[in-house]
Amino acid sequence: MKKAKVVEGKATFYIPDPQDYIKDGKFDPAWLPVFYNPRMKINRDISVELAKVISPKIVIDAFSASGVRGIRYALEAGVSHVIFNDVDKNAISLIEENIKLNSIQSFEIYNMDANALLNSKRGFFVDIDPFGSPSPFILSAVRSVGRRGVIGFTATDLSPLEGSSPRSCRRKYGAINNRKLSFSKEVGVRILLGRIASEASVEEKGIFPIMSFYYGHFFRVFIRVEEGATKADSSLENLGLVAECPKCGFHKFSNDSCDLRKCEICGSEMTVAGPLWLGSLYESEVLTSMNSEGEAGKLLNKIKQEISAPAFYYSLDKFSSMLNLPAVPSTKDIVECTSGFYTHFDPKGVKTNMDYSEVIKCMKNS
Ligand code: SAM
Repeated sequence: MKKAKVVEGKATFYIPDPQDYIKDGKFDPAWLPVFYNPRMKINRDISVELAKVISPKIVIDAFSASGVRGIRYALEAGVSHVIFNDVDKNAISLIEENIKLNSIQSFEIYNMDANALLNSKRGFFVDIDPFGSPSPFILSAVRSVGRRGVIGFTATDLSPLEGSSPRSCRRKYGAINNRKLSFSKEVGVRILLGRIASEASVEEKGIFPIMSFYYGHFFRVFIRVEEGATKADSSLENLGLVAECPKCGFHKFSNDSCDLRKCEICGSEMTVAGPLWLGSLYESEVLTSMNSEGEAGKLLNKIKQEISAPAFYYSLDKFSSMLNLPAVPSTKDIVECTSGFYTHFDPKGVKTNMDYSEVIKCMKNS
């Protein structure tokens, strides 16, 4: 395999030479015999920043591919021991080579299915970065994490999480998500967290989201895991349902069994999604300690603005067309008028604690 040398963060490493895998002038990182996607740099940058703040001694990089992620944890976040793993033999040779190139001192390398590895190892930060859905690995990740440890999950299966593939969402996440709601990006993150909370509760563990976001083509959530049936029970209390009215754009969420089907504004049938996580998406202390440069820095700053915002947002584009407004008001105007918050989920999204009727007034007067 011909290789190319790449630099990312403090790591210099080999990947299969992308030039050899261009087909008809096109290229997809999935065509490489060992996966490396430069578009996921932001995912790794933020994960490294989080590792700097939580300072785990042992990290399990369960889906290492080239090893770049685990190598960056060691070089940039001072992680003293990294457990690398990939089911693919080609990846293992590359990981070995890249570990040498970066003079990583303390490590283990495994060529196992991630579930088998996670059922046999313990880490204080476990990174789950598979292709598509992380669902098949949630339970073993929760088992593998040490006391008050942290797990980072990546999900690239946007379509079920956002409501475009209802059957797949039912299968992978045990949730009803039959139609894309206007705040579908946040629904996606919360369905993923809801599933993680449910699976953790089987192990009598509770979850505490410390940082959750959407970017481009993926979701990423970091959760702290705490042991005990009481912790599991209280984390399950954060699960509930959200509903949006397709006619007037009113939305409501609830974690008791109240009926969300009928819109209390216009009486239409609402679209209901869930179960999903209705609690906080962030741990303020951790998030405010995280800093980065470039795209990751910009994203972190946006996320920091919404630490204390309520769940779910009005997407001004969709909301304006539901209300038949002649033009979409500016996000800034609606944030100001509703004493609201910007959200990283949608550049035209506004979160607010104001009542629907007040938001409507702002929309009509802006
Ligand atoms: N974490 C890497 C990074 O940041 O560059 C990318 C990981 S890539 C999305 C997924 C990797 O998981 C691939 O290298 C693939 O071979 C490996 N993989 C897929 N299924 C696996 C499984 N069940 N157990 C372990 N590794 C698996």
